[in-house]
Amino acid sequence: MLNDKIKIQASCADDDDSEAISVEAARQKILAKMTCIGKTEKLTLHQSLNRVLAEDVVSSINVPGHTNSAMDGYALSGDDLPGVSSDQYKVIGTSFAGQPFKQQCSAGQCVRIMTGAAMPTGTDTVVMQEHIEKVTDTEILIATGHKKNQNVRQAGEDIRKDSVVVKKGHAIQAADLGVIASIGIAEIDVYKQPRIAFFSTGDELRSIGEPLETGDIYDSNRYNLYGMLSQLNVEIIDLGVVKDNLSDLRQAFKAASSKADLVITTGGVSVGEADYVKTIIEEIGKIHIWKIAMKPGRPITFGELGNAFFFGLPGNPVSVMTTFYQFVLPAIQQLSGQGARSPLTFEVVSDSVLRKRRGRFECQRGILSRNETGQLTVRATGKQGSGILSSMSRANCLILLAEDCDGINVGDVVTVQPFNTYL
Ligand code: AMP
Ligand code: MG
Repeated sequence: MLNDKIKIQASCADDDDSEAISVEAARQKILAKMTCIGKTEKLTLHQSLNRVLAEDVVSSINVPGHTNSAMDGYALSGDDLPGVSSDQYKVIGTSFAGQPFKQQCSAGQCVRIMTGAAMPTGTDTVVMQEHIEKVTDTEILIATGHKKNQNVRQAGEDIRKDSVVVKKGHAIQAADLGVIASIGIAEIDVYKQPRIAFFSTGDELRSIGEPLETGDIYDSNRYNLYGMLSQLNVEIIDLGVVKDNLSDLRQAFKAASSKADLVITTGGVSVGEADYVKTIIEEIGKIHIWKIAMKPGRPITFGELGNAFFFGLPGNPVSVMTTFYQFVLPAIQQLSGQGARSPLTFEVVSDSVLRKRRGRFECQRGILSRNETGQLTVRATGKQGSGILSSMSRANCLILLAEDCDGINVGDVVTVQPFNTYL
């Protein structure tokens, strides 16, 4: 029986903790502090995939530059199209893509034209080659039913001269490379990649290849972090494992913050005997947040260390990944100049009973799939403990359960967040 004189403190197993702030308040606080690193560099298009544009890309030309044919066929004036019955036309030449026909086309005449070829003077309409009848090599018959301007791409209909083609803050995708190439630009200004340093803390952590003594475990967090960071537009600095002692940790924090824009650590942020992270950040930096009402992952520290921002994530591997997706990732998007993007979330029916108590926002691991009737549903990955990292590798989404939710039955609707999909 508990001695009623002992004052019980909130622990990470409790659902109520008045010191913990809500997930939304934490996200806002983090985003209000994070600023874009601001430094830029000029890169060639080939180098700039996934990089964030530091200025608007403006077109100095129309695309297409000239009105051209969208079909292989015959170009003529729309005003000269047949009225009540078929008409015969004289074919006066050919316009190829890259080899335009340079003479005037007059009434009763047409020009053989290929897809992409510039429209000859006097023409504004194309009749598909499948829709004509050849009379001789130089005479064709066109039936009624065609419309002026059909099968023609207007100059500037894709991109107008002087318009913004891709906006500052956009992360360059494959389609953008082609669009920028189409306006003849070879190099663009992008923000430098944020430098992200990370290390694991814990006396029990061993690197792969080392033997495990009783109580030792392999350091998996650094691999998770490496994987999640590699999918972002950042420079990664892996600083290994640091032991749970004040002087080693102090040293490591100073070194990390001197070479990075953001420092991420895992472990040592709760209230155990060897949890020194908070103590050191309070001593040599600033703490803005140290508890968030979230499961898994309540003890999470956000602050500043010298010129770097700092996230002290919990040690438990699942907590590392869920807190990364909820807080670190939007913070990095902000740092990289993109601005925090909204993760794609949507509602689906749950195929599993999900156990939960009121009080904390919870991220459970889910598998989204279609059932036999073609309906999109989500099921839990199995045990949801924060040490069950294998649940994370089976998952393809997080199931987001609000603070006041007290459990889900089969058939209830839940909100899911697939990994790595942003609006
Ligand atoms: P801590 O937050 O340091 O108390 O760690 C919480 C739990 O996470 C403990 O069971 C640790 O052994 C485990 N843990 C901490 N760091 C790592 C890591 N880098 N890789 C795998 N497990 C870890
Ligand atoms: Mg530890």
